[in-house]
Amino acid sequence: MADSRQLTRVREVLAATRLEHVRYAIRDIAVLAEQLAREGKTILPLNIGDPLLFDFQTPPHMIEAVAKAMRDGKNGYAPSLGIDEALAAVQAEAERTGIRNIQGVFITQGVSEAVEVCLSALLNPGESVVTPCPEYPLYSLVLAQLGAQPNSYRLSEDAGWEPDLEHLESRIFTGTRALIVGDPNNPTGAVYSRRTLEAIAELARQHNLVIFADEIYHKLALDDEQPVSIAALAPDVPVVTFNGLSKAYLVPGWRLGWAVVSGAGVDLKPYVEGIQKLLRARLSANHPEQYAIRPALEGPQDHLVEVIAKLRVRRDLTMKWCNSIPRMSCVAPRGGFYAFPQLDIPGSDEDFVKQLLIEKQILVVHGSGFGQGRGAQHLRIVFLPDEATLERAYQGIAAFMREHYS
Ligand code: PLP
Repeated sequence: MADSRQLTRVREVLAATRLEHVRYAIRDIAVLAEQLAREGKTILPLNIGDPLLFDFQTPPHMIEAVAKAMRDGKNGYAPSLGIDEALAAVQAEAERTGIRNIQGVFITQGVSEAVEVCLSALLNPGESVVTPCPEYPLYSLVLAQLGAQPNSYRLSEDAGWEPDLEHLESRIFTGTRALIVGDPNNPTGAVYSRRTLEAIAELARQHNLVIFADEIYHKLALDDEQPVSIAALAPDVPVVTFNGLSKAYLVPGWRLGWAVVSGAGVDLKPYVEGIQKLLRARLSANHPEQYAIRPALEGPQDHLVEVIAKLRVRRDLTMKWCNSIPRMSCVAPRGGFYAFPQLDIPGSDEDFVKQLLIEKQILVVHGSGFGQGRGAQHLRIVFLPDEATLERAYQGIAAFMREHYS
C-alpha cells in the first residue's frame, strides 16, 4: 500500500508576488560562477565592487579604532541614530562639502540600509520614485518591496551617460515623490557636471520632489574635476545624501553608511521623524565599527591617493582594451571603479555573460541586470584587480569576441 504521506501534495509556501521582478544580477550571476568553482574552475571575478578582494587594504588606524572600541566594551547596541562622535564627524564632513541646512544625520548599516529606510519612510502606496536607467539595482529592489511601480529616467550614453533631463521631467507624474541621482555613477562611471546637477535640482524644486543623492563614490573621482554634492548646489531643496565607509575607506564588510537630510524652507520634520522611527525599530547600526567613522573622515587620507592612482592606471588599461576589441566601445569612467562598455553583438548581453563565464571563466555582469531590460547590450566590468589580472581578463574577452563574433 502506498504511503499516504507520499500521496499528499506538498503545500508550497510562495514568496510575495511583489518580488516577482526583483533581481540582483550582480550576485545572481555569481551562482553560476560558484557552480563552476565547485567543478574546480578558477574564476576571474570582475563582478563585485569589493576592493578588499584585490590589492587594497583598510587603513590601519581605522582597524585600531574599532579594536579599541571593542576592548573598551562598546559591544552593546549603539544609539539608534548613531553614536555622537560619528554623527558629529558626518555632519562636519557634509558641511565641508558645502551642504547647509542639515536637518538630520543618521548612521546606518551601509548605504544599503540608508536607502531602504529613507525610501520606506517617504512612500505611500501608489506613489513613485524616479530611478536612473541603467541603475544600481538596490533602488528598484527596495521600491519593489514597497510595492511602488517602476518608473525610470534614461541616462544617455551618447552624452557621456549624463541624465536625459527631458526624459526625467516626462517621468514625473502625480504621486511622484522623489528622484534618485547616483554621482559618480554605478554602473556607468559618469561624474555629472554642475550644470546637470543644477538642472536636476530645478526639476525637484518645481515638482516638489525629494532628491536622493547616492554619493558613495564621491571620493573616488579619477580625473581632476571633483564631484559636487547636489545638496550643496541646492540648499533649499530637500535632499537626502547617502555616503559611507564601504568604498573610499575600504571596509565594505563593516556595513557602515549614513544619510544626511538637508533643505531649507520646507518642513522636513515629519519625514525626519519617520526615518527616526524606523531606525529605532531596527535598534542600531554596528556599534564598535562606528568608532572608525571619525578617524576615517578626519584622520590621514593617504590611502585615497594610492587608491586613486591605482584606479586611474586600471581605468586607462580598461579603456585601451575596450576600445581595441572589435564590437566593443566604452565611455571612459570618471569616478568609481566600474566600466560599462557597449557590445555590438546579436543576442542578449545576459547570454554573452554566461557564455563568457563558462568558456573563459571571466565573471562580469550583464547591462540588462542594471534595469535596462531586454535589448540592452552592455557589460559592467569592475576594474579593481591589478594590471596583470586585468590584462588576462581582457585577453580572454578579446579571444571570446574573436571566436564568436568575427
Ligand atoms: N550605492 C551604490 C551606488 C553602490 O555601488 C553600492 C555598493 O556597491 C551601495 C550603494 C551599497 O553600499 P554599502 O556597502 O554602503 O551598503
